[in-house]
Amino acid sequence: MKFSEIPYKRPNISEFEGKFNAVLAEFKEADSFEQHDRALLEMQDLLDGLETQEQLSQIRFDNNTTDKKLEAEVTHMETVVPRMQSLENDMRSSISKSKYREQLGKKYGAHLLKIADFKSSAFDPAIVEDLQQERKVSGLYSKLTGGAQIDFEGAKVTLPAMRKFLVSKDRNIRKKAYLARWEFFASHQEELDDIYDQLVKIRHGMAVKLGFDSYTKLSYKWMSRFDYDAENVANFRNQLSKDVVPLVAQLRAKQAKRLGLDQLEPFDIPFHFASGNPAPKGTPEEILRKAQSMYRELSSETGEFFDHLLDNELIDVINRPGKSPGGYCWEISALKYPYIFANFNGTSGDVDVLTHEAGHAFQYHESRNFALRDYRFPQAETAEIHSTSMEFLTYPWMRKFFQEDTDKYYYLHQTRKLVSLPSGATADHFQEAIYDNPGFTPDERAGVYREMQAKYSPDQLSNMTPYLQSGRQWQSILHFYLLPFYYIDYSLAEVCAFQFHKKAEENREETWSDYLKLCQAGGSQAFLSLLKLAKLRSPFDDGTVKDVVDHVVANLNKIDDSKF
Ligand code: ZN
Repeated sequence: MKFSEIPYKRPNISEFEGKFNAVLAEFKEADSFEQHDRALLEMQDLLDGLETQEQLSQIRFDNNTTDKKLEAEVTHMETVVPRMQSLENDMRSSISKSKYREQLGKKYGAHLLKIADFKSSAFDPAIVEDLQQERKVSGLYSKLTGGAQIDFEGAKVTLPAMRKFLVSKDRNIRKKAYLARWEFFASHQEELDDIYDQLVKIRHGMAVKLGFDSYTKLSYKWMSRFDYDAENVANFRNQLSKDVVPLVAQLRAKQAKRLGLDQLEPFDIPFHFASGNPAPKGTPEEILRKAQSMYRELSSETGEFFDHLLDNELIDVINRPGKSPGGYCWEISALKYPYIFANFNGTSGDVDVLTHEAGHAFQYHESRNFALRDYRFPQAETAEIHSTSMEFLTYPWMRKFFQEDTDKYYYLHQTRKLVSLPSGATADHFQEAIYDNPGFTPDERAGVYREMQAKYSPDQLSNMTPYLQSGRQWQSILHFYLLPFYYIDYSLAEVCAFQFHKKAEENREETWSDYLKLCQAGGSQAFLSLLKLAKLRSPFDDGTVKDVVDHVVANLNKIDDSKF
């Protein structure tokens, strides 16, 4: 079935609760493991069916945010989804207390029980209203940024489409685009401050209701960080600060030299080569066709997967007015379809987002047949390994997209990954400070961000406007509003993806087989166990970051960047 043909029906959540609770009762009261198990699988199907309605309405709305009918469905879901989460929690808590625990563990693996124990300890129906409110308030952020139309050079330009101007060869255009983009955020400062303030308070309130002293701790549970804690993450942040921040300064100095500048201004940061950044050749349709032939050549699994995406309209990459910014991969649970959403803008980022989201989607496709919903997608830091590694594992095909600029692309892509590593620490340490101090004012929060930037991302500091000087750059990043604490995951995953990159240079076949194994394992194990399965070193261990980035620097040094 093609994406456009999948029927949507507004769910009646009260009716659904009745149906679900009947099956849950059967699960609890089952006289045999067979009956118990049948009820468990039936609950998975019911949740898949309901969640599909959420996915359809949200994805269709993201593709067309001006459609009032779709908007009404998304608004309807604000109340439905938290009630669904509550039901899913009831199920997990019953799994946790099941008299057939041992048999469940034998059939599905002990990880099912771990998830059930872990997650049911961090939920209570008392927070359903807060979750509904949180969805409503965070939706305001999506609406504000999705609807942005920036007046630029006589045209109305969406936020994703501004990217092209931000990397313009003309320094004056870059500067103007940079100022216009930030002027949009500055003109909404009060609203953005207020939305975030409400979210921090709602989130802190939920943590308190659930018996946690801060949302940071609750969030570790919700993010399914089973086998590491805030201390491990703090140690990882320290490695980034010690081993990567000085490298970023060196790479920025090289960049300035290439551009013939004494010093990079903030609007020069995205622009890497005097001759212009590499851009993929061809229209978005041609890029998709090239990707199809790439995936057919890469492996039989990826070929079959990408054909499936194109045949069933499961990928939309065209930027249009009214389309939400950003890119993501999601699923259509009932059909076990992955879905890729992106906004091409004519820069090399188009290829990055394509291979990245295809990595997520490929993993889902490979583990879609797990009966348990929790096993189909892993937690965030693992999921980002699938996606980020795919950006590297497709390197041998980059000539299809970049032709004579391929070396330039390799140089840019590896540089970008390296310089973006510490931003995970900035975002993570910032959020930890914010949620540990929920009484901060918006100005105090901005001040903390500025401090974190000075510590981890000094190259990103900007004094160009009062808004930027105040420390509000983070307001352009949707994660802080919609996906709290989902950020250090990118840096953890990059350290793993760099390892796959190195291994693929040494032994491509074996590396691909390790990667495939990791994809097929989905979320059936915790992070550190999955790393073992894929023969990857843990980013938390001292020395891993240093070894990994040293290799990338050696790779970069092999390329003569003065020729670009
Ligand atoms: Zn991703």
